[in-house]
Amino acid sequence: MKRVAVLGSTGSIGTNCLQVLDALPERLSLSGITAHRRWRELAEQTQSTHPRWAVVTDESLSHGVDRAAFSSKTEILFGESGIERLCSSPEVDVVVSAIVGAAGLRGTWVALECGKTVAIANKETLVVAGSLVMELAKRTNATLLPVDSEHSAIFQALQAGRASEVKRVVLTSSGGPFRGRTLAQLRDVTPSEALAHPTWNMGPKITIDSATMMNKALEVVEAKWLFGLRDDQIDVVVHPQSVVHSFVEFVDGSVIAQLSPPDMRLPIQYALTFPDRCESIASKLDWKKSFDLHFEPPDLEAFPALRLGFEVASRGGTCGAVLNAANEAAVERFLAGSLRFCDIPRACRAVLDQHQFDASPSLSELLRLDREARQEIARWT
Ligand code: NAD
Ligand code: MG
Repeated sequence: MKRVAVLGSTGSIGTNCLQVLDALPERLSLSGITAHRRWRELAEQTQSTHPRWAVVTDESLSHGVDRAAFSSKTEILFGESGIERLCSSPEVDVVVSAIVGAAGLRGTWVALECGKTVAIANKETLVVAGSLVMELAKRTNATLLPVDSEHSAIFQALQAGRASEVKRVVLTSSGGPFRGRTLAQLRDVTPSEALAHPTWNMGPKITIDSATMMNKALEVVEAKWLFGLRDDQIDVVVHPQSVVHSFVEFVDGSVIAQLSPPDMRLPIQYALTFPDRCESIASKLDWKKSFDLHFEPPDLEAFPALRLGFEVASRGGTCGAVLNAANEAAVERFLAGSLRFCDIPRACRAVLDQHQFDASPSLSELLRLDREARQEIARWT
């Protein structure tokens, strides 16, 4: 029995994760859940799952929360210290890192410091501090398992050969809602158009990232750190059906892919039951129906964010933290209506180019650069 803590349990990954746990009661039990502000949803989740802890991470809510709404079996904790207590508890074996943005770093870090297994959906943590995170995991003998569908696919495909036999990994991208448009046609797209993703149902931040293709840029960096790849070993191909979740090309030319319908419950479950596979509630491919799989190269002119990903993967150092923070702040401004869609990658490019590069920064330096990049974006016109 694995005892699981789900950070960000009220989000898209979080709620899918609770479904996976609910379907595998003989293998997985829930120790703790967390939400930032939506404490009523969190309270509701405790009523059906009765975890030992529930953490409300927005500390300012510590007096506004109705304790009676939570299960009587659940202790309520607040703020970052609540996350730290949950992630370091000996009663937790696996931490699912499903908070959105750089805010997800702290819990992942604490769990790794304690040598635990982290099922990581929060790619931003690896973009911000991939080098330090991987070093920490190595030092404490902790395990990082991918939840992001592309990285789960690569992780599965890599099992077909040795690391030295890998030629390249290829990340697939749906292309998002604006596939096929030119840069000029992207000038005035609205938040509601950008929020309508064709194949995946996700939280708002990653949905905008998918529309700009910044999501794939972040995933290139994520793949570099997770699998110890050089940036020239990572490619991206557009595949609008989101059925082939990514693939690995070996030196002999064999390509090993992982296929399934777009349903995050499968990669979440694989990370939680690894190395075992078991029956799953995720949707299955129907081989009795005909369907096509299409692949095309990405359009780097219309989606310049993708270039940033390759550049950041190649330069490393402080670049990931700066790109990630600039993008988070730019997406917030776009959703609030104060920044145009095509200015998201432009503003990120400007902030990245201006920052003082350091090839081997400390965690505190990365966190300082994260704050500064957000301030730069707030001023960007
Ligand atoms: P979401 O917006 O649906 O949920 C985010 C969760 O994080 C919520 O529980 C929220 O309460 C919590 N949260 C938000 N801000 C916080 C803060 N400042 N401090 C602490 N908690 C905070 O997001 P999501 O779509 O579930 O994505 C979560 C992570 O998983 C992201 O890093 C995303 O890139 C990654 N991911 C998501 C999907 C997907 O299908 N949704 C796929 C692959 C990777
Ligand atoms: Mg992905």
